[in-house]
Amino acid sequence: MGQGDSPEGESPSMVLAPGLYVTATPIGNASDLSLRAMRVLKACDAIVVEDTRVTSRLLSIHGISRPLLTYNDHNAPAIRPKLLARLQAGERLALVSDAGTPLISDPGHRLVRAAIEEGIAVFPVPGPSAAVAALSVAGLPTDRFFFVGFLPSKHGERQTMLRELKAIPATLVFYESPNRIGATLADMAEIFGAREAVVARELTKMHEDIRRGTLAHLAETYGGDAPKGEITLLVAPPEGEEPDHSKVDGLLLMALPHMPVNAAAALVAEATGAPRRAVYTRALALKNTDATPD
Ligand code: SAM
Repeated sequence: MGQGDSPEGESPSMVLAPGLYVTATPIGNASDLSLRAMRVLKACDAIVVEDTRVTSRLLSIHGISRPLLTYNDHNAPAIRPKLLARLQAGERLALVSDAGTPLISDPGHRLVRAAIEEGIAVFPVPGPSAAVAALSVAGLPTDRFFFVGFLPSKHGERQTMLRELKAIPATLVFYESPNRIGATLADMAEIFGAREAVVARELTKMHEDIRRGTLAHLAETYGGDAPKGEITLLVAPPEGEEPDHSKVDGLLLMALPHMPVNAAAALVAEATGAPRRAVYTRALALKNTDATPD
């Protein structure tokens, strides 16, 4: 039986085939739990969770009560053999994370890999993931996207990684903490230049907030107090050639002391043929580094 459970429309008490069910759960809105996920969670022998408190809340909303087993970054090496032994004995275990799809910046990779190596059936029960939800509404190209997940927390390592990512011809998808979003956007504006970006915050929740603009504009927006909630950040693919910085810089340095950044950028873009947004980002950078004479 390929999909591990009976086809759509079966009763909740259906019999599941033995194996590991990698089950997506909502990223905010509890109603996003799929009917199939609900059936699998109700019918499995136990649910493998990251945090019992988080998953218990979701289960109680949907009237689901099954034994919970904790599996997270702290206890994984000790618990994995026990889970594999239960699976080998023919149990049906559902693996969930706190939110979204397990293994996507969440635990589970080694468990799934070990299960495959031991010949245990592994079934996907697909559903929400913040990365795909953000892509679906961003308005950025989706023909090619590159999932980065979380950047390193150390500033130098983050900048190195951003430089490595700069030339990838795809929409880039990041998970980012509210505390770092302002700094990350500023680094990206400096390293990636004038690219469109989207900050998707609190998707599917009461305070859902999706902001679009250039990296420089969004860096300004999020430059103050940290926003609340969970954030997925997307950056548009690079566009063609970078402008000739030396020529653009020279003209900007002449124009900036005499007019607002916007006007200087428009003038220099017109004079050089460089993309206006790229020139605007450059003008902001020059202004912020105080390279312009008073
Ligand atoms: N496995 C999850 C998934 O499939 O989306 C992601 C888990 S990762 C530990 C959590 C990160 O996902 C958050 O820090 C945030 O960057 C992003 N995220 C989760 N829920 C979100 C939401 N409702 N809106 C925006 N981003 C979200």
